[in-house]
Amino acid sequence: MKKLLKYLNPLSHLGDRKYSYLFPLIVNILLIVGSEIYVYIIAKNPLAVGNYIIFANVAFIIYFAFREGLWGGYISSIFSIAYYVYIIYSRHYTGLQKSAGIDTIIILAFLYLLLASIIGWLKQRIDVLIENEAYQRRRLEAIIEQLPVGVIVTDNYGILQLQNKQVKKILGLKLPRGYTFGKDTPLKNSTSEGRVVTPQQAPLAQVLSGRPSISGKEYVLKNKYGKAKYIQVSASSIRNNSRDIIAAAEIISDVTSQKEIERQKDDFLNLASHELKTPLTSLKMFVDLQKREIESKNFKKLDYYNIRISDQVDRLEDLTSDLLDVSRIQTGKLRINIETLDIAKLVKDTLDGIEDINNTHELEVIGESQLVQADGHRIYQVLVNLINNAIKYSPDKNKVLIKFYKSKNMVVVSVQDFGIGISPEEQDRIFDRLYQVSDLEEKTFPGLGLGLYISKEIINLHHGKIWVKSTKGKGSTFYFSLPIAKKKGNI
Ligand code: ADP
Repeated sequence: MKKLLKYLNPLSHLGDRKYSYLFPLIVNILLIVGSEIYVYIIAKNPLAVGNYIIFANVAFIIYFAFREGLWGGYISSIFSIAYYVYIIYSRHYTGLQKSAGIDTIIILAFLYLLLASIIGWLKQRIDVLIENEAYQRRRLEAIIEQLPVGVIVTDNYGILQLQNKQVKKILGLKLPRGYTFGKDTPLKNSTSEGRVVTPQQAPLAQVLSGRPSISGKEYVLKNKYGKAKYIQVSASSIRNNSRDIIAAAEIISDVTSQKEIERQKDDFLNLASHELKTPLTSLKMFVDLQKREIESKNFKKLDYYNIRISDQVDRLEDLTSDLLDVSRIQTGKLRINIETLDIAKLVKDTLDGIEDINNTHELEVIGESQLVQADGHRIYQVLVNLINNAIKYSPDKNKVLIKFYKSKNMVVVSVQDFGIGISPEEQDRIFDRLYQVSDLEEKTFPGLGLGLYISKEIINLHHGKIWVKSTKGKGSTFYFSLPIAKKKGNI
């Protein structure tokens, strides 16, 4: 029944632009047949066809013009006129009656066609307008749906009207239909500036109550495991020309990763200041001691102080050059100068350089001469970092193994230690900027967590790879590969 009423209701066809000829055709034929049955069988008087038919025809013209557009109205008009003509001839009208009848038919035909044209045209215009409106709305909804931020729109009572899929992703839940901002409890465990947010403090509730727009306000959402998610919210009310609030909209974005980067930057600044301060303090101490010796003309320890001062200056130089390298990487300005080099010689030079500072570990080398295409200074830097790490992170052992060998069209260099090792979860992350494994065992090792990050960038610039294999408690092997040089000087 509901379906039938919907089918017959002309309003339910607004905007669909589906026009049928069949329905008005059948109904108009039925009307004529019904009228003839009434006249001949019920009233038993062929002349009983009267004004009712004019009312019925006008009603049908209006109905079908509105339901089916121009042709619905025209079909009804044509059938009505045809029936009138049929009446005049079938009832054998003559003389004055006939000519008056024809005159009436001409006037009615004109009026019917005019009525059908006006209503049918209006109906078709309305259809186009409604369809355009629906298209614009669908387009807007598709755009909102695909925005990379969460969008929520409410009416002026705060009742949810629209939310895109990002909302669910960011908030971890889809707001239910009828959710009312200002009344329903906002997300559980949400806080702003350390305070729990009440329904009235929700940004949409605030702007709907007339407060000015809210821009970039931060909220912390805690999930059931207590993990914090940082979201940034901007909200604004929407007003009509008479400045009445008619709706409100909110944009939310997940800023957890930005927060994490900010936190890492702060940590890094603390760490860098600390790391820079340590050699500076020692430097100052040794310079003071040296000054005192010179004043007291007692030069016994002068050489010792000189060496210590030079160590601390070296440390400072290393730290600042690491910091400079990071900034070069970030600005895309780290460059390499490729030459053809013998990896065996490069490893030997590195070991010679490290010899002075290493008096704890035996550095064993296994490998044969192999020409690679590389920047000597930069690969020296990578090797020093890997070997220093191997020494630093194996304090209870006394051996580091350095190997190099050919593998396809690359030369692989490995640095193996038998020290504290790295857990599988940490293995991917140690190449990230500022990443330092931070379990209790390792807090005692100094460092900025930049060495591997810089090494990875250097190896990437060589189109090589850097990776690690490690077992916690047993030791680690760091590998990197460099392209083989075909023959000497072929660059
Ligand atoms: P740094 O040594 O200055 O902290 P790196 O970038 O060289 O920075 O190393 C990053 C992290 O990787 C270190 O903090 C350490 O936790 C881990 N790591 C590096 N090399 C080793 C190694 N050979 N054995 C165990 N852990 C290592």
